[in-house]
Amino acid sequence: MKQRLTILGSTGSIGTSTLDVVARHPERYEVFALSAATQVDLMLAQCAQFRPRYAVMASAAHARQLAEKIKQNDLATQVLQAPDALETIASHEQVDAVMAAIVGAAGLAPCMAAARAGKRLLLANKEALVVGGAVFMRAVRDGGATLLPIDSEHSAIFQSLPEDPATWHERVDHVLLTASGGPFRTREPASLRDVTPDEACAHPNFSMGRKISIDSATMMNKALEVIEARWLFDLAPEQIKVVIHPQQIIHSMVQFRDASIIAQLGTPDMRVPIACGLAWPERIASGAPVLDFARLAALTFEQADAARFPGLHLSWQALCAAPGTTAVLNAANEVAVDAFLQRRIRFDQIHALNLATLESVLPSDADTLQSLLALDAQARAVAQQLVLGFN
Ligand code: NDP
Repeated sequence: MKQRLTILGSTGSIGTSTLDVVARHPERYEVFALSAATQVDLMLAQCAQFRPRYAVMASAAHARQLAEKIKQNDLATQVLQAPDALETIASHEQVDAVMAAIVGAAGLAPCMAAARAGKRLLLANKEALVVGGAVFMRAVRDGGATLLPIDSEHSAIFQSLPEDPATWHERVDHVLLTASGGPFRTREPASLRDVTPDEACAHPNFSMGRKISIDSATMMNKALEVIEARWLFDLAPEQIKVVIHPQQIIHSMVQFRDASIIAQLGTPDMRVPIACGLAWPERIASGAPVLDFARLAALTFEQADAARFPGLHLSWQALCAAPGTTAVLNAANEVAVDAFLQRRIRFDQIHALNLATLESVLPSDADTLQSLLALDAQARAVAQQLVLGFN
């Protein structure tokens, strides 16, 4: 029996890589629904190739454009509009697995819908878990969903951990998230003041969406991943460590109580964790090149420099603060990255804006999806206001 898939964010970097893997295994997977925000022509091409029953666009205007083109091309796909339709395709009774690859907190509600409906949930959209935290994990538990990490670091940890989660507490000492260090790993901190969005998006190993590329340059991506690891693997904040590994061959590691370390290795290609999540516990071809050890010059490791990457430590601070603080941090960072991409603030002001928002918004209620979405909106409004005062 084929697995029926919904792919949220199918036109993005993770979405297109997912479809690349899916196309290699037509006997295993069938695309039930796709979603995108703005890329109408790419969505049309995906509908023509994968023939989903539904395609969801983020706005009425984009949904109208797509519907028109679907009709002109004689395709049977039904076009729907977010936000309600995202929850519909994430929780539809005919769907087996949901790839969550929307960027940002916009993905939280459909992820929660998939979790409550007990789906196999492949989570790339780390911001959803950073915002949702305990509420998200409760929905996974109560809905009987299977949550599988797609972020390469968390996939590596997942693959390195013992199979039975009940044994993790007694066996695991800590996890080590590896980080590339991004494009500014060796730059003088003072010279980061005036970098441009294009310089910041030039990741050394990966071609990714612009938001995660900026997050990699500030290392806020790793900060979000620390928070993600806390929830995925039920770890205390101090059990999560970060080490820079520029070659990105070791994708992350688990250190056990006896000082033994298990790591997962491979070429830096997101199709590997995507294929792993799609097929788990089986293994299928991903299309990624295999690692050639004879050509590996060296695997090196460094400490993350706090002066160059001041945002990294906000993750541990937010995890130790009141529930909901990680949602505030995520909202501030989404606003900051957007403002930087629009050249409204400087690169070094991303951290300043995150800090200032954390100081201004103190969460009091973060126990339901509604309260988290309200907190997210409040933090965004505060951060937007703060942007006006910058420069
Ligand atoms: P992209 O920006 O490339 O793609 C984002 C996708 O989400 C696109 O399909 C986009 O549509 C859609 N989208 C954007 N905003 C909205 C919205 N408000 N509502 C609905 N849909 C929306 O991002 P990535 O693929 O790089 O990243 C996706 C997620 O995966 C992020 O959370 C990221 O942190 C995570 N991730 C990414 C990795 C990577 O290598 N890229 C690695 C590990 C994790 P459209 O393009 O049509 O506008």
